[in-house]
Amino acid sequence: KIRTRIAPSPTGDPHVGTAYIALFNKVFAQSQGGEFILRIEDTDQARSTPESEQAILDSLKWLGLNWAEGPDVGGEYGPYRQSDRKDIYKKYTQQLVDEGHAFPCFCTSERLDALREEQREAGTDIGYDGHCMHLDASEVEDKIAAGESHVIRMKVPEEGVCVVDDLLRGKVEIDWKQIDMQVLMKSDGLPTYHLASVVDDHLMEISHIMRGEEWISSTPKQIALYQYFNWQPPVYVHLPLLRNADKSKLSKRKNPTSITYYRELGILPEALVNFLGMMGWTQPDGAEIFTVDDMAATFDVSRISLGGPVFDQEKLNWLNGKYLRELHTPEQLLQKLVDWKFNAEFATQLMPLAQTRAETLGDIAPLLSFFFAGNPAITESSFDGFKLEGDELKRVLQLILWKLEAQRHWEKDNIFTDVKTIAEHCELKFKDVNAPLFVAITGSTASVSVMDAMAILGPDMTRGRIRHALT
Ligand code: ATP
Ligand code: GLU
Repeated sequence: KIRTRIAPSPTGDPHVGTAYIALFNKVFAQSQGGEFILRIEDTDQARSTPESEQAILDSLKWLGLNWAEGPDVGGEYGPYRQSDRKDIYKKYTQQLVDEGHAFPCFCTSERLDALREEQREAGTDIGYDGHCMHLDASEVEDKIAAGESHVIRMKVPEEGVCVVDDLLRGKVEIDWKQIDMQVLMKSDGLPTYHLASVVDDHLMEISHIMRGEEWISSTPKQIALYQYFNWQPPVYVHLPLLRNADKSKLSKRKNPTSITYYRELGILPEALVNFLGMMGWTQPDGAEIFTVDDMAATFDVSRISLGGPVFDQEKLNWLNGKYLRELHTPEQLLQKLVDWKFNAEFATQLMPLAQTRAETLGDIAPLLSFFFAGNPAITESSFDGFKLEGDELKRVLQLILWKLEAQRHWEKDNIFTDVKTIAEHCELKFKDVNAPLFVAITGSTASVSVMDAMAILGPDMTRGRIRHALT
């Protein structure tokens, strides 16, 4: 039975790359009469958050990329969240240690830092040197009995090449010498991605792993684990990564990457999925408008193109426009608009802001129009007359952007504190920073409170607008 999965780590905004990989996994499973499932990989406890997990699930559902099994819907291979599977990983890690494929490592971070530095200076990037692999058994026992902090590392072959058999790329050869003795279990008893992912893919009977090409270089570690466990490895398909216009890997510095951003901009989910389907794939009949079902009906892995697909926002806008014009009656379009932002729920948040500033009802819509728009039409001259100008203005906006990118709790008071911190850091008055920020966010010099506006616009639109003002 064909079973594929999307395995997001809930460590940030829902990424368009995740949706793209999910789409191909779903389409492939559907085309084969198989199952597509979702697993949450939250072994990095310091970076994982429940908010991020929720946002990822919501975004994928919004796109219609639903799954047959997952943490929210259950299924017979659960639990589907790795933090709920700790005991399983303990058992399998212990098995590897008992069978001599993995070993406890007591090296301190100071030793590992020094080793890294040494290797950097020598220009050899060989990774862990195997120091603890040679401890004798009684010493290991004593250290563990004394409660010494340790991790578990896997052994890797010292010689030869690992052949990664990729359905799209053929046999990819990687020297075992390049493969580090990966930590499988951290000192806190939690597994790392490689161990957890292999164990789960096996136990969840995943037949095909379709994921970004960034993972090829570490696939040998996973293949070694399958061998140690004596398990049949899945079929690998490493998909080309999405690219910026300059062909570099898609990055939020050059192109918004959050699905929420496109949703709030007014991109339709059908159009975004269709667009992601065009990344590396063309329908055999050349059709540009197609659904997940259309794609599944003709899907053939070998027709995926490996040339780096460019995430071109203009093309996305063009496609979205086509959906708006050709695939909707005026009534349907109105409904889409209502679902998006023209509804009482959204407007209710805005009323207190407009109330203090309007004299007639007719004043309200113009005051609030920027909440319903994409990026404001601003030019350099929009910032004329402010104390901050030119490069200094850019520097301050950039600092605010970085500060807001790190903000995990998007609330008015926190946003205010962030902006105030930057103003103080730059030895500027709050109002001299606030005024240009106002223009960047609202597109005008007179509108509702910018702190409230940023809180309601949310992190994606706010950051997107500041980024827009910087370009
Ligand atoms: P960074 O900005 O630190 O490089 P990132 O943009 O790679 O981060 P991550 O948070 O590491 O983002 O990735 C989130 C998910 O999106 C991962 O599953 C990753 O595989 C996927 N992803 C990230 N960039 C791309 C891309 N260019 N193409 C396809 N998938 C991607
Ligand atoms: N959790 C990994 C990620 O976020 C999954 C990688 C894989 O598909 O194996 O990309």
